[in-house]
Amino acid sequence: DKDDAADIKIVMLGGGGVGKSALTLQFVKGEFLSTYDPTIEETYRKTMEVDGLKSVIEIMDTAGTEQFTALKEIYMKAGNAFILVFSLTHLGSVNELGELREQILRLKGRKVPLILVGNKSDLKADRQCPQEVGANLSRLWGKIPYYEASARKGTNVDEIFEDAVRQCRAMETST
Ligand code: GDP
Ligand code: MG
Repeated sequence: DKDDAADIKIVMLGGGGVGKSALTLQFVKGEFLSTYDPTIEETYRKTMEVDGLKSVIEIMDTAGTEQFTALKEIYMKAGNAFILVFSLTHLGSVNELGELREQILRLKGRKVPLILVGNKSDLKADRQCPQEVGANLSRLWGKIPYYEASARKGTNVDEIFEDAVRQCRAMETST
């Protein structure tokens, strides 16, 4: 029930408007959030089966563009895996992720599961970030997984969260 601790806590991070909430809601409810409310900050819970094993996961959808908020620090401390989201339609949204990643590493003081996501892949005509932008960043950051996703179409949405769960399990058994 609600009071039971989740097995895995996943934190959504990235600039405003990149699609953190839309990816979260597509995954949790299978619905596309077409309106933009930058203030939505919510935690969702879902039981999912990955590789034949069930896990209760909690997804913390963060909001706000401020780099340092107390709440964000609480999320970061609690998180087991982090999804770093930028928008393929906004090159500038890539630049917001470096600082967030450093904050995570500083707070955690060890390697943690990170996943890089370029969202809004359905908006092909508005694309500003070629595939190499994400691929290069993923290499620079130690070959973390990179996905191009669309919250609108549901492309690669389940895959992102499954990857996070697998990484968390692998880390648990290796420490
Ligand atoms: P957040 O600030 O990162 O939580 O961004 P939101 O999830 O609220 O999304 C911002 C805006 O982009 C909203 O109007 C969404 O409907 C839209 N959006 C999010 N993901 C996608 C996507 O994959 N494709 C398209 N076309 N629009 C998206
Ligand atoms: Mg949001």
